[in-house]
Amino acid sequence: MLANFHTHTTFSDGKNTPEEVVRYAIEKGFSAVGFSDHGYTAYDGRYCMKDTAGYIAEIKRLKEKYADQIEIYLGVEEDSHSLLSREDFDYIIGSCHYLYANGAYYSIDSNCEYFTKALAAAGNDELAFAKAYYGHFCEYIQTRKPDLIGHFDLLTKFDEKEQARFLHNEDYWAIAEQYTLKALKSGCIFEVNTGMITRGFRSSPCPHERLLRVIHEHGGKVALSSDSHQRETLNGCFAETEELLRKVGFSERYILKNGQWTSVPL
Ligand SMILES: [Zn+2]
Ligand SMILES: [Zn+2]
Repeated sequence: MLANFHTHTTFSDGKNTPEEVVRYAIEKGFSAVGFSDHGYTAYDGRYCMKDTAGYIAEIKRLKEKYADQIEIYLGVEEDSHSLLSREDFDYIIGSCHYLYANGAYYSIDSNCEYFTKALAAAGNDELAFAKAYYGHFCEYIQTRKPDLIGHFDLLTKFDEKEQARFLHNEDYWAIAEQYTLKALKSGCIFEVNTGMITRGFRSSPCPHERLLRVIHEHGGKVALSSDSHQRETLNGCFAETEELLRKVGFSERYILKNGQWTSVPL
């Protein structure tokens, strides 16, 4: 059952219009596509939607136009520091893209240079950084209960190729696993994000396999997400990620079907 619910378009930082994505999805046999452009963030105008009303109107128009060919959902990727009006959307992906420190918002994933600045704001202490990131994010997850938890361990984005800060450190894993358990208590679905693989940052999805094992052991739910910024990657690396999920022990994943989050076999 081909479906993706983490999709960016020209309304935020994606390359294709929503309609181009819909046409591509129909051509490839998707049962559903959910749009999730970046919700407005006053502290960083580089990635987010400026015309939220236009976005909502356009996705609603496409829903009707293609109703007999594909299920279309109006979602949004909400930054955990900037809450939106939830009733405007079919679902929300809750993601943490910034470290808030000393009265400023430091981008974690823009590029490695920004990541380095965020780390400096945490006193160049990786473990303090991890605790601040996960602490804030888990607080948000517990109170906000987003439909999908976006790229849970985003802070490790540059670890494999640019700055090895976390993945080799067992003290980091202890923190990450402890906060994964906290996030699990929310009952929210963890997205398993393949965007960092298709964009060349990581060799495995986000969350990392080690955290996926914790999620599985504790009965957590997962959904496949491509975090696509161009239509060609709408189901990028899904086949190998499904394989990985089966290897970890998952037998099902969640998709939106007839408006409900529904499990389908892996
Ligand atoms: Zn994101
Ligand atoms: Zn995204």
